[in-house]
Amino acid sequence: MNFIDTHCHLLLKQFDDDRQEMLKKANEELDLLIEIGINVESSKSVVDFVKDEEKIFGAVGIHPTESQDLKETDLDKIKELAGKPKIVAIGEIGLDFYWETNKQDQYKSLDAQLDIAEEMGLPVVFHIRDAYEEAYNFLQKKGLPARKGVVHCFSSDWEMAEKFLDLGLYLGFDGPITYPKNNKLREVVEKTPVERILPETDSPFLPPVPYRGKRNNPTYVKYVYEKISEIKGIDVETLKEITKSNAEKFFFNKG
Ligand SMILES: [Zn+2]
Repeated sequence: MNFIDTHCHLLLKQFDDDRQEMLKKANEELDLLIEIGINVESSKSVVDFVKDEEKIFGAVGIHPTESQDLKETDLDKIKELAGKPKIVAIGEIGLDFYWETNKQDQYKSLDAQLDIAEEMGLPVVFHIRDAYEEAYNFLQKKGLPARKGVVHCFSSDWEMAEKFLDLGLYLGFDGPITYPKNNKLREVVEKTPVERILPETDSPFLPPVPYRGKRNNPTYVKYVYEKISEIKGIDVETLKEITKSNAEKFFFNKG
């Protein structure tokens, strides 16, 4: 069995020079990839891209930092794209208070796209940065779409992780779990039930050790698997089986 990468951005410009080569490698070493949209334009590209790829499925959505001055037509467009073949999630959407964009715009965008997820019967890929408390309070009040969601690149502590797990969400883990200083994050990996874990890379961002400072790519997800395996004491082959079944449940509503 091969690896899976449930969150990547192969369409970003960082792959313009060698995308085909990267795709070839990814197809050799992975069974499933999810390409994630960040705005209307990129979501359109995701739809076009995944329809010709066997192992790659897509998510469409407007990232919180792309949510300023959102128009009704942008949301209509996301809804339309969400109904296209091989689109399996709404994302990435959420709150990002690291970047000083308008918080009210972010809430509005998140709220509207949660409604789209509910209406289209899709799960959600959440991007949450420096806004865990706020996102939790918002989601608890609003309620989640029936198909729930994953907190992509989870980056808070166990106390917060437990709250999101109690909402029924999955947690996505990436390269940062391999960084020497991230003991708190490794504690989250240790305590999170393996049935709620989705491995991801966020390529081209967040490269794992030993590639820090370089461009990340989906084949490096193996370092994320190795670290999860080490922390949880589960061998990599078993971890591949469990996380594949997690992804099938989550993205394809199977089992
Ligand atoms: Zn991303």
